[in-house]
Amino acid sequence: MAAQPLIVDLRRDSAADGPGIRTVVFFKGCPLRCSFCHNPEAQDARPEIAFSRDKCIECALCQDACPQHVIDLANPARISRDRCRRCGTCAAACAGGALRLIGASYEPEELARLVLRDLPFFRHSGGGVTLSGGEPTMFPDYVEALLRLLKAEGVHVILETCGFFDYDVFAQKILPWLDGIFFDLKFADPAEHRKHTGQDNRMILANLRRLLADGGVEVLPRAPLIPGVTATPENLRGLAALLRELGAARVELLPYNPLGLDMYAALGKDMPTLPESFPKPEDFDALCRTFRELIETHR
Ligand code: SF4
Ligand code: SF4
Repeated sequence: MAAQPLIVDLRRDSAADGPGIRTVVFFKGCPLRCSFCHNPEAQDARPEIAFSRDKCIECALCQDACPQHVIDLANPARISRDRCRRCGTCAAACAGGALRLIGASYEPEELARLVLRDLPFFRHSGGGVTLSGGEPTMFPDYVEALLRLLKAEGVHVILETCGFFDYDVFAQKILPWLDGIFFDLKFADPAEHRKHTGQDNRMILANLRRLLADGGVEVLPRAPLIPGVTATPENLRGLAALLRELGAARVELLPYNPLGLDMYAALGKDMPTLPESFPKPEDFDALCRTFRELIETHR
């Protein structure tokens, strides 16, 4: 078994991550570093400590418990992270719930057991499991082992992916078990992609092209509309032309979601400069209309 991933969270009863009632498994670790990421706790594959200042009752139990002596109540950030070993001792000792260890390790059998508790809801609603993150494809052996267990119970499985993976490994280990793929499409232009995600988009686009051409599993490209970043006239034009050229039958546009930005501060990371409010429904509708017109223009 290759590297065992950490799991950020299991979200039960989701109605927004595919058909029916779904349980979403969030993997920790992503090959991209999107400037607009709203799951910053899922970027780093290693455990992390989140600190919520508003919950701290200043009991100093964390300071006493830390074996590295890197916690100081006088430090506004609380932890000197460059010397933190990510052991989680402080979070276990925290009386106020202000410190939280992010990233839990499960054997595939254990994770499958947790997820399969929801099997009656999946069967009743036509739902299933959605693998998200982070990027589940970073852990192909683990995901294969998990999916074998879920598919043995007939669970419907969707993968949410950024598309940055080795296609041959993916096709061998993960693809055969999937019922659907939600494929993130952020930028058409390679330079813009690299600037805002840290990676080139050539492999991503090649993977999307192959998946759409193979047609073995339903693939839904999804484009997040981030004000001033992905939702620019140039990028919308580029994405519309690309989707047309790839022959994608459908695309989903995702409205900007500022939830999660607080997590940057909790993890001691720089806060991105992004709007802190949700877009107005009429603005999102206008962007969708523009995008539809652009796709029609390319027909
Ligand atoms: S994770 Fe461990 S090393 Fe880091 S601050 Fe907490 S107790 Fe100290
Ligand atoms: S243990 Fe938790 S509540 Fe107590 S001082 Fe540390 S962070 Fe604050």
